[in-house]
Amino acid sequence: MWNGKRKNRVKKSGLNYRTGSDIIKTQNIFITRQVKKMITGLLNEFIIQGDRGAVVPFSRIENLKKDMMDLQNGEFHTEWLNRMANHITDEANKFIPSDFSVKPCSLITVLIPSPKVILKFNYNGKLIPVEVPTHYTNWDKNNDRVLKYIIDYLKPHGYTAAKAVTLSHKLLAVHSGLALYGRNNICYNDDYGSYMQIMSYISDLPCNESPWFPIRRMESCENCRVCVTSCPTGAIDFNRQLINSDRCITLVNELPDEFPIWIKKNAHNSIIGCSICQDCCPVNAINKNNIKLGATFTEEETAELLNHKGNEPYSESLSVKIEMAGILQEYTNPNVLPRNLAMLIL
Ligand code: SF4
Ligand code: SF4
Repeated sequence: MWNGKRKNRVKKSGLNYRTGSDIIKTQNIFITRQVKKMITGLLNEFIIQGDRGAVVPFSRIENLKKDMMDLQNGEFHTEWLNRMANHITDEANKFIPSDFSVKPCSLITVLIPSPKVILKFNYNGKLIPVEVPTHYTNWDKNNDRVLKYIIDYLKPHGYTAAKAVTLSHKLLAVHSGLALYGRNNICYNDDYGSYMQIMSYISDLPCNESPWFPIRRMESCENCRVCVTSCPTGAIDFNRQLINSDRCITLVNELPDEFPIWIKKNAHNSIIGCSICQDCCPVNAINKNNIKLGATFTEEETAELLNHKGNEPYSESLSVKIEMAGILQEYTNPNVLPRNLAMLIL
């Protein structure tokens, strides 16, 4: 009775009467709607930019940490896993940049189409094509480009974002539903196959819920052994969830150490990394033909690169060509590129 009277009284004044808890509830719905709208807008922005993205609550970091701990303690533990795990399994959350001063509320995963690049080297009167696999080209530029448009989108709403460079990008992409694993431990997306780069970001954009999928492998892998039989070092085992990363060329030729004798010379196929298990995969039948032509190195530049020793800087013209090639900077180490190129063209 009392409420009815009061409602009637307020109605006469033309106001919408609401109790305090109604106001809070409506406010929360409004905030949730606003946030949902912002997240939907951001997901659309990824598509407009030609990429794909997903946003999950920051609290999912605990799931990622558990995944890494399980892998570290599991049968397939390797030193490489230790390095990866170390960034997110300690309390300092090393993947958060020191200049990110706001409270992290969400993790953002973004897939960027990334065709492989063919470089050409003039050597002894011949023009020799050399491959740079998908992961390695223009990584920094792409990462900057994506961060910029995420921040441009979030800033008017009062939020920001930062790169989470050392997060486990593949695990986050698979859990968020954007990608699936192949038997070769590479991630695949319906639109790009495995020819993509996966970037991760943190943001203060509120996100309380989102789908979180289990770690899954493509159905196509069910009865397929193509990558198992094609891998030149036997790093992929049909019965294992993870590849044997200690036997993978990629993880050997990214480091400046001498090549182990178990890698045969004809197993080397790229100036950095290895793309055999991606190129042979039937799921990549279409995307593998999406190839970009990169820089052409003159006889002089090729000779300089092959003969380069120690930490002396490259000549200006060679530096420009390496920059044009777009190879991820950490792999342009003078002890890595000359050694890897020699395996392919000498
Ligand atoms: S080659 Fe076959 S098993 Fe290997 S990732 Fe592709 S579909 Fe899966
Ligand atoms: S990247 Fe090369 S060495 Fe590594 S698993 Fe694939 S095919 Fe084998």
